[in-house]
Amino acid sequence: MVKVAIVTGAAQGIGLAIAQRLHQDGFKLGLLDYNAEAVEKASEQFAGDAIAVAVDVSKRMDVFAAFDKVVEAFGDLHVVVNNAGVGPTTPIDTITEEQFYQVYGINVGGVLWGIQAAHKHFKDLGHGGKIINAASQAGVVGNPELSLYSGTKFAVRGITQVTARDLAEEGITVNAFAPGIVKTPMMFDIAHKVGQNAGKSDEWGMEQFAKNITLKRLSEPEDVANAVAFLAGKDSDYITGQTIIVDGGMQFH
Ligand code: NAD
Repeated sequence: MVKVAIVTGAAQGIGLAIAQRLHQDGFKLGLLDYNAEAVEKASEQFAGDAIAVAVDVSKRMDVFAAFDKVVEAFGDLHVVVNNAGVGPTTPIDTITEEQFYQVYGINVGGVLWGIQAAHKHFKDLGHGGKIINAASQAGVVGNPELSLYSGTKFAVRGITQVTARDLAEEGITVNAFAPGIVKTPMMFDIAHKVGQNAGKSDEWGMEQFAKNITLKRLSEPEDVANAVAFLAGKDSDYITGQTIIVDGGMQFH
């Protein structure tokens, strides 16, 4: 049987690591990202087992069209990883209306549209499936200067719980993963901004996050991909509505 997965935000970072791991696990891949050039390039490493689709996940109809392309290409769909997200540092007084709509549009809207498009295809294909959403440890406990970002990730956990209940009868599970401090371009950018706001270096910025990690190391993207592979596979069939925290022990819940 052909197994098919869609990963959003798959051009780099955690999304690319998830794509690589799911490919190892036998999935054909739809790689969605709004960086057209980068996602096309990323797809080349999967030697015909992946198609790249350039899409902004905050645009509902475009997300539906992108999912259609993947299902047309591979004829099926089993797993959807709504991973795309943005993480600007936003001290409370700096937040603008435009930024609010942008960040919520991508981090929350992208997850909602991804769930809707997944549901449509699972229904059409006549089988269930697995939906996996990107939260964050900052969506489990509020993090300083991240009121927009943390808010969106709390929302992702809420949407995960609600849709797990709404879609269970159709054989669909919905779970989330909550990474900690992962070595990706997004995290280096956040560390830079936190350092800059305090008049300190990038390294200092990263240390502010790293010092509370029980396992005393930053996360590799692969640490997150391992947990997502579990949520994408049959060993997690009896798990739904959960957020798995993959943060080296920053938050205990
Ligand atoms: P990243 O910035 O390195 O990569 C994100 C990818 O998503 C990029 O390829 C980007 O082009 C794409 N993307 C962004 N907005 C998009 C949009 N509107 N439509 C389509 N694609 C879009 O980020 P990352 O660190 O790999 O993060 C991946 C996910 O994990 C995000 O949801 C992020 O919030 C979450 N996360 C990351 C960390 C971390 O430490 N890096 C921690 C917790 C949670």
